[in-house]
Amino acid sequence: EPDPSLQPQRQSEDNDRALRPQALDEFIGQAEARANLKVFIESAKRRGEAMDHTLFHGPPGLGKTTLAQIMARELGVGFRMTSGPVLAKAGDLAAILTNLEARDVLFIDEIHRLNPAVEEVLYPALEDFELDLVIGEGPAARTVRIELQPFTLIGATTRMGLLTTPLRDRFGIPTRLQFYTTDELHQIVTRGARLMGAPATPDGAQEIAKRARGTPRIAGRLLRRVVDFAIVEGDGTVTQEIADSALTRLGVDHLGLDGADRRYLRLIAENYQGGPVGIETLSAALSEARDALEEVIEPYLLQQGLIQRTPRGRMLAQKAWAHLGMAAPKGQGD
Ligand code: ADP
Repeated sequence: EPDPSLQPQRQSEDNDRALRPQALDEFIGQAEARANLKVFIESAKRRGEAMDHTLFHGPPGLGKTTLAQIMARELGVGFRMTSGPVLAKAGDLAAILTNLEARDVLFIDEIHRLNPAVEEVLYPALEDFELDLVIGEGPAARTVRIELQPFTLIGATTRMGLLTTPLRDRFGIPTRLQFYTTDELHQIVTRGARLMGAPATPDGAQEIAKRARGTPRIAGRLLRRVVDFAIVEGDGTVTQEIADSALTRLGVDHLGLDGADRRYLRLIAENYQGGPVGIETLSAALSEARDALEEVIEPYLLQQGLIQRTPRGRMLAQKAWAHLGMAAPKGQGD
């Protein structure tokens, strides 16, 4: 049974707009990316031109969509949003492109999942703001060229490696988003708690920040659950005690790993003596899509030094054995 928390796509609880930062200066973290974007936005505004096409890549929940919305607002232009899998036909993309106003931002989420026929249409649109459309069928078919308003494409992907080279090359500003530090998540949780009317003590915010897998979306989700407990079982304040007991009840451990993460680690430990084991084997044994393992589970385990990727497959690191409370087999886990 696939774990619903593994769905890389947004979950309904993300829909609350109140917590989304609205301006670049309100956005916490990603300092390097933000400093660069600030320059590019300012330059585009002074030139009165559309900003260069931008690609955000990195694990889900790090703020790609949020940053794209902020950029449109800072540029003072319109924002249109779609996603790779939604654009089934070339005509779907053409309809969106021809409706853009000058300098608008078009955001395409999961851009690595664009259909190749749609991608073909996108190239001249990105390069020359032109669209070549085939009208009619058979011998009567002809191509018409449509001029587009200059626009900015912001693409987002969790899988940079799956982007075709020609598409990747058309982005002037590729930006990798990083996992957030505990301090940054601490600020995000403190702000979120205040906006939700359930203030967090510094210890309480810290407890959630440490266990949020470096990811603002997860910090927000954990905060909402902790606030529920704070309201019903406490006095409405997010304290360390309430955060700890709520997160433990939700199955989130001290490193922020949840049931799916631990199942992954335990499988490698118990069935494969710590690896190496191939991703397809893990995917079959866990009944999880390979994409979900690669996009959602593994990036944080790698970043935490719990696993290593080797040419022959995944291996547990010493830290994972310790976390599982197990001894590594001789000669393993280092
Ligand atoms: P992505 O597009 O990378 O999957 P989103 O932009 O949808 O991520 O962000 C996920 C959630 O995390 C949203 O609810 C958003 O408000 C919140 N979020 C992301 N980045 C930040 C940040 N820097 N500060 C506060 N909240 C953030």
